[in-house]
Amino acid sequence: MAQDGYDADVAVIGVGTMGSMACWQLAKRGVSVVGFEQFAPGHDRSGAGGESRLFRTAYLEGPQYVPLLLAAQEQWRNLESDVGRELLTLNGGLMIGQPDSEFLTSVMASIQSADLPHEILNYNEATKRYPQHRLHRDEIMIFDRQAGFIRPELSVALAADASESMGARILRRERVNSVEPDEQGVTVVTSNGVWRTRKVVIAAGAWSQRLCPKLTPTIRLQRLVMTWFPLRDPASYTPDRFPIFIRQTEAYDISGWPTLDSTSLKVAVNFGYDMVDDPDGLDRTVNDHLLDTIRKGVRELLPDAINEPMRIGAYMDGYTDDRDAIVGYTDDLPNTIAMYGFSGHGFKMAPAIGQAVADLVADGQTQLPIDHLDPNRLTQNRQPPKRLRTIAGESGR
Ligand SMILES: Cc1cc2nc3c(=O)[nH]c(=O)nc-3n(C[C@H](O)[C@H](O)[C@H](O)COP(=O)(O)OP(=O)(O)OC[C@H]3O[C@@H](n4cnc5c(N)ncnc54)[C@H](O)[C@@H]3O)c2cc1C
Repeated sequence: MAQDGYDADVAVIGVGTMGSMACWQLAKRGVSVVGFEQFAPGHDRSGAGGESRLFRTAYLEGPQYVPLLLAAQEQWRNLESDVGRELLTLNGGLMIGQPDSEFLTSVMASIQSADLPHEILNYNEATKRYPQHRLHRDEIMIFDRQAGFIRPELSVALAADASESMGARILRRERVNSVEPDEQGVTVVTSNGVWRTRKVVIAAGAWSQRLCPKLTPTIRLQRLVMTWFPLRDPASYTPDRFPIFIRQTEAYDISGWPTLDSTSLKVAVNFGYDMVDDPDGLDRTVNDHLLDTIRKGVRELLPDAINEPMRIGAYMDGYTDDRDAIVGYTDDLPNTIAMYGFSGHGFKMAPAIGQAVADLVADGQTQLPIDHLDPNRLTQNRQPPKRLRTIAGESGR
């Protein structure tokens, strides 16, 4: 228990994806932590909704992520062991495209950086093994063995629950109105009261900069849409027969998941999405123009799906200019660890990010490979690296 006039050692603002994992990792170490969530852990109104998230290690975003992803895999298993449920299912992942494309070249660079287990399937092998995909003659598949899917809402809810069992306080439906850090600690003003802690972790996702306008770098808020298409033959799309996939063609950048409801195939077409001006006003309707684009992609690439989505979901995430998140102590505010801007690909790393934050709180540093996520990197006059058009585009994967 915190003392000397502090209500807790650490306040975590936002018990969503990253906040729940930070609470779990901090509580596991015996740090006194209080988490504030404006809704309730496991809600589906921002970064974590929509049934499933991709887990991948043959990472098209670059080999710098591979050690962190392997650490995350271990932490997912630790969380599963603490909560007694499977959260990450490794049914493999297909990266589908032209062999000499920047996309597959990046995937191969990650594979080679850590000698990741994989298979390369040429057109004939790929169409034979995975006939669910209508391939173009110039496409191949790279099978990432250490890929699969995670259950997002359940993971967040169970991580928060586990943290409470380990002594954390999670305050639900308690919105933080202001965070005022100073050299001695942090004052957190909520809809219900005032708290004083030694440190604060800003894990408010799309709301982070609204809450703390001084935080840099700034993020753009992006709306991301997911669609579930009914299947004529769901048995061909179960996790054991249908790996998760990302496919980039000249026309499409599309991700997909096996059926988890024995009824539908979930796909996300990764472009054409809107900006979000106000995270409190996320528009969850999807217009016909965007739906037409998604339907067209599914009709051409996954012809067995009935071409009318039975379910549509809209969510959001914050994007940095270089598509790398912000994780660490920030020069902008004292006693403040920032973790936001996960740019559409943060979920898979969440328990390792929580571990890194717990290290930073307890030891002031972490051995986890998160240098590329340093909050101060863009303010130190470093230019964002050149990225692939497709990689830099709007996506959630
Ligand atoms: C549609 C979609 C698909 C994606 N697909 C993948 C994928 O396949 N694989 C992958 O790895 N990643 C994927 N991502 C990215 C990943 O899901 C996000 O990067 C991650 O969920 C962001 O986590 P977060 O903690 O920053 O935000 P959130 O999970 O949104 O958490 C922020 C929390 O803070 C709370 N909060 C905000 N303000 C306050 C306040 N003032 N007081 C109290 N609480 C507050 C919010 O209610 C929320 O619960 C996807 C994202 C989206 C949107």
